Amino acid sequence: MGEAVAPWIAAQRQALLAQRGHAWLLHGPSGLGQYALALELVRAWLCDAPTGHGACGQCASCHGVDVRTHADLCVLMPETQMLALGWPLPEKAQGEIDDKKRKPSREIRVEAMRDAVEFAQRTSARGRGKAVLVYPAEQMNHVTANALLKTLEEPPGDVRFVLATEAAHELLPTIRSRCLGHTMLWPQAQDMQAWLAGQGVAQDAADAFLRAAGGRPDDALALARSGRSPQAWALIPKAVARGNVSALADLDLPQAVDALQKLCHDLLALRVGAAPRYFAQADLPAPPGVGPLTRWARLLAKEARTAEHPFNAGLMLESLVAQARQTLHSRH
Ligand SMILES: [Zn+2]
Repeated sequence: MGEAVAPWIAAQRQALLAQRGHAWLLHGPSGLGQYALALELVRAWLCDAPTGHGACGQCASCHGVDVRTHADLCVLMPETQMLALGWPLPEKAQGEIDDKKRKPSREIRVEAMRDAVEFAQRTSARGRGKAVLVYPAEQMNHVTANALLKTLEEPPGDVRFVLATEAAHELLPTIRSRCLGHTMLWPQAQDMQAWLAGQGVAQDAADAFLRAAGGRPDDALALARSGRSPQAWALIPKAVARGNVSALADLDLPQAVDALQKLCHDLLALRVGAAPRYFAQADLPAPPGVGPLTRWARLLAKEARTAEHPFNAGLMLESLVAQARQTLHSRH
């Protein structure tokens, strides 16, 4: 067995390895472990001594995957994602970024796809076949997706694919139909709490972070590791209602928009008599009408798209909070 993976990922790994398939599409909402499961699958496919449960974790192939250099594994990701997950970039790409000729790409580059197609044609270096891991698969544009499609349609024999996505609806239907689909499973609450406890997150904090993350364990762990206090999350709704910008000050802009979207979601839920999902009911202000909330939700969705590249992050945060405050105090 390899390094410890969450029990629900291990269970899904076992279920998928029991089936044949040269191309898997792992899909579902974010934070459910698509990437972790994809990596577990390719590790098992390439392993010298795999069991029905997964890779052995001991052999030269497993070691190659673990140290991010395996001649028969090609990972296809946006450069920003590769850097975040510790994958080395191709020499040329790294050189261009080091020389400040360009920034790391946020989508899967045509050059990277070209390399992957070439990789698929080569013979396996270790004789156990090859694997291509694509994540997040929705970061392929039409050119790269079509290039991948050709290879998926006529796979050169000993190559297997796993595509992982948090937005399957953004993929070309032809890509989806060429893969076996797997919907990521929602873990049980007690499994997530035990898992977070195993990562050193105290029970109270685990509950709070799981709530803030909408029940998504990976996101909850990321929140716990961000150093933010679970109490700070609970204070956001009422602080925002007072127009207090500092409640969001330790978040970057995309995170701030995300927090406001969760607040908006919960107020809409309350308004229609449903239970809030991300905040405790006691921490929420009285919800305004459905009209203002729906308008706010639309504005936030638009802002979520620009929050990655704000013109002026400080000003944008202030205007977000002003907008939130106005919404929370409107009557119709
Ligand atoms: Zn192995």
